[in-house]
Amino acid sequence: MRVIFLGPPGVGKGTQADFIAQKYGIPKLSTGDLLRESVAKETALGKEAKGYMNRGELVPDGVVIGLVEEKLGSKECQQGFLLDGFPRTVTQADQLSTYLTAKGEALDRVVYFSLSKDEIVRRISGRRSCPECKAVYHLESVPPKSEGICDTCGKSLIQRNDDKPETIESRLAVYQEQTAPLIEYYQNRNILGELDGAGLVSAVQDRLVALLA
Ligand code: AMP
Repeated sequence: MRVIFLGPPGVGKGTQADFIAQKYGIPKLSTGDLLRESVAKETALGKEAKGYMNRGELVPDGVVIGLVEEKLGSKECQQGFLLDGFPRTVTQADQLSTYLTAKGEALDRVVYFSLSKDEIVRRISGRRSCPECKAVYHLESVPPKSEGICDTCGKSLIQRNDDKPETIESRLAVYQEQTAPLIEYYQNRNILGELDGAGLVSAVQDRLVALLA
């Protein structure tokens, strides 16, 4: 299975991606996670990406495409993959298509997660994540058992720099301008399925499994 999760930030793609990757036994590739890892390790790529990420802008296409192609070329992605947060521009989508075609592969499905703006802002502002194991919580809807501490590894939870209120609006504007055109792009290729991202994690999960069946 070769799948893309598409949609605005904060819509729940990452949470559902972890579940689907496990259920279908395919690797999840989150460009946001890969980039944050590079920033934390202070690699050359991380140093280049950091400023864009903190401002809520997209990292240049060339950087992200290189990162993704390197992963897709690895053995673990040969039987399928789930891309979370990539592609985010038409250039990235075109490049992915060229790359897969050259390998004789094709995408099976693109899932577009939709949600109202109010709910997106509520989800992003309440989001807290574990810098160690990357587990994601929400202050109201998915709180950790003890306040501010990761259930899984006991580390202190953090709020991502780009989840702070001043950056949310610019991320949403960037999404509208650069990523939303991909909805029509994949609709025209007849592989897009729309998923209502509202409600409980478990309810979205059920709808998603039905959509992918
Ligand atoms: P995410 O965790 O998917 O919300 O991504 C966090 C940030 O990483 C984004 O706001 C961008 O700055 C950067 N990023 C992640 N994926 C991409 C991508 N496909 N293209 C460009 N920038 C990206």
